[in-house]
Amino acid sequence: MLNKKTVEDIDVRGKRVLVRCDFNVPLDENRNITDDTRIVGALPTIEYLIKNGAKVILCSHMGKPKGEPKPELSLAPVAKALSEKLGKAVIFAADDCVVGENAKKAVSEMADGDVVLLENTRYRAEETKNIDDFSKELASLAEIFVNDAFGTAHRAHCSNVGVTKYLPVAVCGYLIQKEIQFLGNAVNNPVRPLVAILGGSKVSSKISVINNLLEKVDTLIIGGGMAYTFMKAQGLSVGTSLLEEDFIEYASDMMKKAEEKGVKLLIPVDTVEASEYSNDAEIKIAEGGIDDGFMGLDIGPKSIELFKDALKDAKTVVWNGPMGVFEMPNFAKGTNAIAAALAELDATTVIGGGDSVAAVNKAGLADKMTHISTGGGASLEFLEGKELPGIVAINDK
Ligand code: ADP
Ligand code: MG
Repeated sequence: MLNKKTVEDIDVRGKRVLVRCDFNVPLDENRNITDDTRIVGALPTIEYLIKNGAKVILCSHMGKPKGEPKPELSLAPVAKALSEKLGKAVIFAADDCVVGENAKKAVSEMADGDVVLLENTRYRAEETKNIDDFSKELASLAEIFVNDAFGTAHRAHCSNVGVTKYLPVAVCGYLIQKEIQFLGNAVNNPVRPLVAILGGSKVSSKISVINNLLEKVDTLIIGGGMAYTFMKAQGLSVGTSLLEEDFIEYASDMMKKAEEKGVKLLIPVDTVEASEYSNDAEIKIAEGGIDDGFMGLDIGPKSIELFKDALKDAKTVVWNGPMGVFEMPNFAKGTNAIAAALAELDATTVIGGGDSVAAVNKAGLADKMTHISTGGGASLEFLEGKELPGIVAINDK
């Protein structure tokens, strides 16, 4: 499946290697890192490069500084955390222009196995527009490019795509390799039955994945905020629930398509409805449609049973999007029940989407899943069958 070159396919000894990582970690108001999953995820590639005598130059974006230096989005805290994890000094090149005097000096003084971290690539306005001058500057620091940032692979930016124009040897790191393997196999070469579960609130950006998934899956389960557009398409009332008016017809088309293809498409048969968006709201279980003045905030108990039953023989499951507003305890049952059901399965389970991953972590079940994807948007576009520019730019084997 993986036809892209990885760090193991090239000789890195003594070479200056620019590595695009995903160090976009959450910070608290004192700029402490509150979740270091992404730093930990980047370690295998960095450690491999150190061990094999490369000069390792790391870069990443953090947040949205919108093309100018924002001290609160500096990668300085990442350099510190990374030093601790690697057990060796990480030189932080604190240039507001990312590739400035500090970076050039630090790189020129590197010995084999040294590590330098550049400043937030989005301090530069060119980065997200993929404008050549910044790509060229980044490339000038190195001889080889490694992309290990899956989270931005669906975007063509200087630091993951533009740079490969000037550094033709471009390979992927272990993180991207793993993502391509698990996500790729799950949708393109799955052990069947393959079940996909979709939910969450970003309905308009997610709903178009359904068309592609119906070509691949045996069963498609729809919960979360996406379900009400389907309920509406079935002629049911949805009260004040999330609804994408513009996609009601699409939802009907998808139900028709599922029927034609013999794909089982399941939507909730009951809903936990609330008088307002609050954990303290008046709560009822609604069968079928939602009552006037109420909004659906979780799937109901019968839906949980229906979905669990559809999952019990699954051999591959892809899950993107919580079943309800799991952040509020009264609306977390559906999401937790699905997470628990997946944890029990003897199947390949792949979880994508920032909030879905958070829900699985919160339930303490992350280590029971086969693969937790690091890129929400990227994993979704992968499931949509789109080519990701950040992966296209990597050398083929
Ligand atoms: P992910 O990050 O996993 O891709 P999304 O960002 O699309 O998922 O959606 C996550 C959010 O969806 C959560 O914050 C959750 O509260 C919300 N959500 C789930 N079900 C509903 C619902 N019925 N109504 C409103 N919001 C919902
Ligand atoms: Mg989200």
